[in-house]
Amino acid sequence: MKAIKCGKLIDGQGGTPLENAVVLIDEDKVKAVGSEKDVAIPPEAQMIDLSDKTVLPGMIDCHVHTYGNGDPAPELKNLKELIPYKALKAVAYAKLDLDAGFTTLRDVGASGFSDIAAKKAIDNGLHVGPRMQVSGPILSITGGHGDSQLAPHVEVDPELRAVVNSPDEARKAARKHLKHGADLIKMAATGGVLSEGTEPGAQQLSYEEMKAAIDEAKKLGKRTAAHAQGTQGIKEAVRAGISSIEHGCFLDDEAIEMMLENGTYLVPTLCAPYYIAEHGIEGGIPEYGVRKTKQVMESHGQSFKDAYKAGVKIAMGTDAATPFNYHGKNAFELQLMVEAGMKTMDAILSTTKNAAELMGLEDKVGTLEPGKWADIIAVDGNPVEDIKVLQEVKFVMKGGELIKG
Ligand SMILES: [Zn+2]
Repeated sequence: MKAIKCGKLIDGQGGTPLENAVVLIDEDKVKAVGSEKDVAIPPEAQMIDLSDKTVLPGMIDCHVHTYGNGDPAPELKNLKELIPYKALKAVAYAKLDLDAGFTTLRDVGASGFSDIAAKKAIDNGLHVGPRMQVSGPILSITGGHGDSQLAPHVEVDPELRAVVNSPDEARKAARKHLKHGADLIKMAATGGVLSEGTEPGAQQLSYEEMKAAIDEAKKLGKRTAAHAQGTQGIKEAVRAGISSIEHGCFLDDEAIEMMLENGTYLVPTLCAPYYIAEHGIEGGIPEYGVRKTKQVMESHGQSFKDAYKAGVKIAMGTDAATPFNYHGKNAFELQLMVEAGMKTMDAILSTTKNAAELMGLEDKVGTLEPGKWADIIAVDGNPVEDIKVLQEVKFVMKGGELIKG
């Protein structure tokens, strides 16, 4: 038994932070949470004194790629790497996220199932790392966001990609991913910024292709995510039953209405364009990536504001791995969301309770309540007053085990 004395406690339910609270931990689970007056600490409990800190549930990043880390132009380099090396990188980068207070990650796209391998190594205790949901390769059309952009005579191992061009192929790819241990299926509903020759505004996978993959996931109770920037692709993904829209750069009123009706989450990833615009071509980012970022950025910010105002469910995601978007710096996304008008407590919920709900893990993580995993972090200061303090996490516990602090 462990007992944490908390200066302040934010339990992830959205209420006013509780002063002088106690969290009791039995093995890997939370046993009791409450005010010092109400929770009796058993004499044998090991005391952890965080009475000068604010204690929160472990944070969750719903959009990372653990195989990479901030490289300005990774495409060719990625193709020269062995898949086992990608998996080794994935455990190392996932650990950076864990140390930064992100006890749960959703990896939405890796080449060659390296994410699934990393997750297994962590779950089997071979490496220390966060809890992970993993998607394997992103389902993409030929020439789409997720396919390679190499010349036809350059052979790319099809196992690195999940290129599909019909509902049957989408169904088969989804089944294969699920067979190999994918927790969710990720698909490209539109073009993107960092894929040469694709248009962020243009739809890619058809409604029928997405529906086929989504239905396969649903049969096993699994969720789905769509890389979706352009308006039409967003709407078709929502209509097909997608769990979350990633990026959502060109949302119109109808798209927002559809997301509200279907309970679709938005994972904004404001970090990704921010860093690309900040570092630009001078930073070594390909010209097309910088150009397209500038085309989508303003609308991206506005879409986030409109969706938030309308009450669309928002889960935090960084797109960590994209240029200069480093693992371990994840909480910067919360600052960008707050700077765009989100209330600090809503930003905290987007990386705790809401994120857990998007992942279907609401019974296990996201809030500090009896019976949930003891995934706990602590910071100096009060994130409700200054969201930036979450960028300096001082204490990390995962499942009752001390990771940092
Ligand atoms: Zn991404």
